[in-house]
Amino acid sequence: MAHVKLFIPGPVEVSPKTFEAFCSPMIGHRSKSFQELYAGIMPQLQALLYTRRPVFLGTSSAWGIMEGAVRNLVSRKVLNCMCGAFSDKWFDVSQRCGKAAEALQVEWGEPIRGEAVAAKLKSGEFDAVTYIHNETSTGVMSPIEELAEVKRQFPDVMFIIDTVSSMTATRLAFDELGFDVMLAGTQKAFALPPGLSVFVCSEAALAKAKTQPDRGYYFDLLEFEKNAEKTMTPSTPSISHIYALKSKLGEIFAEGLDARFARHVKLAGMTRTWAAKHGFTLFPEAGCESVTLTTVNNGARPGGRVVDVQKLVDLTKQRGFLINGGYGKIKGTTFRISNMGDETEATMNELFAALDEAMQEL
Ligand SMILES: *Cc1c(COP(=O)(O)O)cnc(C)c1O
Repeated sequence: MAHVKLFIPGPVEVSPKTFEAFCSPMIGHRSKSFQELYAGIMPQLQALLYTRRPVFLGTSSAWGIMEGAVRNLVSRKVLNCMCGAFSDKWFDVSQRCGKAAEALQVEWGEPIRGEAVAAKLKSGEFDAVTYIHNETSTGVMSPIEELAEVKRQFPDVMFIIDTVSSMTATRLAFDELGFDVMLAGTQKAFALPPGLSVFVCSEAALAKAKTQPDRGYYFDLLEFEKNAEKTMTPSTPSISHIYALKSKLGEIFAEGLDARFARHVKLAGMTRTWAAKHGFTLFPEAGCESVTLTTVNNGARPGGRVVDVQKLVDLTKQRGFLINGGYGKIKGTTFRISNMGDETEATMNELFAALDEAMQEL
């Protein structure tokens, strides 16, 4: 069967070049070759995240690290900032980890504002916050600079930041922002296959983890720290992913970070233009639209055109492209188009041509 190219917001399309790197011959994870592989990409990982801290590699999808961060860093109570399916879920996950948790819920489509977080933290009850920079279900990118300002007001609170669908697509300067954990899975903006996570922790996070009795083993931040000193990982990592990551980092730095960030801004703008051309409005509140995906309104909010989303998805798929028909409670009343990873103006235009044809057939 012919391959249907992915324009869903994860997993995203993986290039043949990346797969070729993924299929490099296996090496031992306690070998000098592995240490050289990891040490070789560490400077690029640090440059990507604007950090001097070691960048850790976890073998799991993002939720492993999200859950691990809660287990390692919450002792009193966690504030879960909720504005969509992924951030809402973190409240549930915190409770499943046995933690006291409180929801800071805003309407889907709205961002998390710094002042709302600060107002909650003033109570002094919380020792951690979870926050999703780019809520992939709603297509909202929350203003992360506002959150960094809140962190400066509450330096002792652990700020755990999911940048799953924004890391590599926009400037996320970990040391400058001052957060405690910043994490992503590789199947979103990295455009690698799913199964690897990239994350970084502050020194304060590691000090806090030391005081936690029940960190477990697989996601124990102190294990990651101890092993990263030898450029190794706590347990056997997905070495294939790390080869693919090395190849991808080469591409990222050949393009240049600023050019890569600008490309994402441009392509998301093209997608919004396509939507407007067909009479659609957008789901996110104006001004906080993501740069990596567009969540088109299709009846979830008043205004704009409404079409049969499943039919649009099917007709587009017949033309070789897959978009997503909405996620969670806004499935069908929104649809999502990703521009993460390797996409260019040319490849986006191929998608828009197929979408235009599909719209005519609706
Ligand atoms: C995809 C996604 C997740 C979940 O990642 P998994 O790979 O399924 O563990 C979490 N947060 C955000 C913002 C995401 O886009």
